[in-house]
Amino acid sequence: MNDDCLFCRIIAGQVPAERVYEDGDALAFLDIMQAARGHTLVVPRVHAASLPELPDAAATGLFRAVKAVMGKIDRALLPLAFNVGWNHGLAAGQHVFHLHVHVLPRFTPGGMGVQALGISEGGGVDREQLARLGTAIRGA
Ligand code: 5GP
Ligand code: ZN
Repeated sequence: MNDDCLFCRIIAGQVPAERVYEDGDALAFLDIMQAARGHTLVVPRVHAASLPELPDAAATGLFRAVKAVMGKIDRALLPLAFNVGWNHGLAAGQHVFHLHVHVLPRFTPGGMGVQALGISEGGGVDREQLARLGTAIRGA
């Protein structure tokens, strides 16, 4: 528990939230700013600012909770689809530095995926550049 962390305080029950699922590893509650109807945040109980800081066992539990939450939203709200993911770091739009997975149900056909978030830093990559990227990432 990190006393300065909003989501740790929600987990501890010190800050109210609309809790929709919990187990030994994770808690899920509705995002206060509903970007979609049923927009839910799934957080590990252990404080970790981001995924690299989360122990592997807790990451497994978090992913299991994400699956359970998707099932609950699916049954309750009957969405057509979901976008699921998280913002890692300030430049990617992370504002609360306790890892949280956004589960966003989608209700309208033909919606755009996360590639369409307005990120325009790819820059028309050819096969050679793809190969260089692959080499760099494989070797790191
Ligand atoms: P981030 O930008 O860090 O990926 O997402 C943080 C999310 O937390 C935002 O979508 C924001 O609406 C949500 N949020 C911030 N404060 C609270 C709060 O006090 N309660 C709940 N339920 N959600 C919050
Ligand atoms: Zn925390």
